[in-house]
Amino acid sequence: MNNLLNKLFSYISDDIAIDLGTANSLVYVKGRGIVITEPSVVAVNQKTGQILAIGKEAKKMVGRTPAHIVATRPLVSGVISDFEVTEQMLRYFIEKADKKKFILSARPRVIIGIPCGVTEVEKKAVCDAARNAGAREVFLIEEPMASAIGARLLVQDAGGNFVVDIGGGTTEVAVISLGGIVIAKSLRVAGDKLNNDIIQFAQNEYRLLIGERTAEDIKIGIGSVIPLKEKRELPMRGRNLVTGLPEEIIVSDDDIRRALEKSVRQIINEIKTAVEETPPELLADIMHSGIHLAGGGSLLRGLDALVSKETKIPTKVIEDPMTAVVRGAGMVLENLDELREVLVETKFLEPPK
Ligand code: ADP
Ligand code: MG
Repeated sequence: MNNLLNKLFSYISDDIAIDLGTANSLVYVKGRGIVITEPSVVAVNQKTGQILAIGKEAKKMVGRTPAHIVATRPLVSGVISDFEVTEQMLRYFIEKADKKKFILSARPRVIIGIPCGVTEVEKKAVCDAARNAGAREVFLIEEPMASAIGARLLVQDAGGNFVVDIGGGTTEVAVISLGGIVIAKSLRVAGDKLNNDIIQFAQNEYRLLIGERTAEDIKIGIGSVIPLKEKRELPMRGRNLVTGLPEEIIVSDDDIRRALEKSVRQIINEIKTAVEETPPELLADIMHSGIHLAGGGSLLRGLDALVSKETKIPTKVIEDPMTAVVRGAGMVLENLDELREVLVETKFLEPPK
């Protein structure tokens, strides 16, 4: 009976892949491609517990809301920090991606990217949240595996693949071979920390209080990790902490490089440690195939060149690095039979019938 229902559902419900990132969430619908890209933000009224907005709408509220309305990120370092809010966010994405299907009340199969090394309890939390949000069947895939597939690396071959995903909350480093993850490292230094570094820098150097959005704009606008050919400058607007008045200060790529230096060093060291731990046979492949950078953080100017210089391994940012996880997970959806072995095995998941 179950089998029959599954077959029936497979005709009338679109399967979807979800990348629940700490900064951005993306949804891919089988046969259609990426249909949703929104910030992973939920605005909650703390007095009533009511959810006011999700995604883009919620992000607009950040830093602008009255005190009792908090714009939270349901995921910290890629792991569910607030179960109920995550469930609501998943429901919002599933319904938005799959509108017409809900009329037929069929429920989609869902594949969700998770960071490496999350506990069984956390995996179960993600699956439960997705089921409660309307998923018929849930599969999990480790994000670096999904990125690698999204980058069209041959993850099932015996050769080694080296992937670094720099997101908002974490930098994930992974070595993949034969459809599995051989080495995985996770560092809680990534895009958010870089924004904070710029906020700290403005405070320490100029007694200037700036917001997160301003810091991120500056990072994206002129941030770099090696000297640029052409000098870049941007105005940095905030409030002078001494006078309490608004102020604008011009900062250069040089200033921002200094502000980011320490965190960038930590990311580089994490990558170098993973290289040192890679078995020599795989390292031989990787010296040839290179290091692949993914995630929004990989777009920081000069990062590929710096990683290459520090590791002596050719390094490049993959094409469209911010969508790699969801595209990879989507490719698994499209070829579930061939790629099933790359999915995370979980004790509590029933084997598909
Ligand atoms: P997550 O998977 O954690 O949601 P993403 O892969 O979406 O994260 O990356 C988001 C991070 O990438 C943010 O910290 C953002 O500031 C950063 N980012 C996006 N574009 C750029 C850019 N051009 N240069 C530097 N950082 C960037
Ligand atoms: Mg990500």
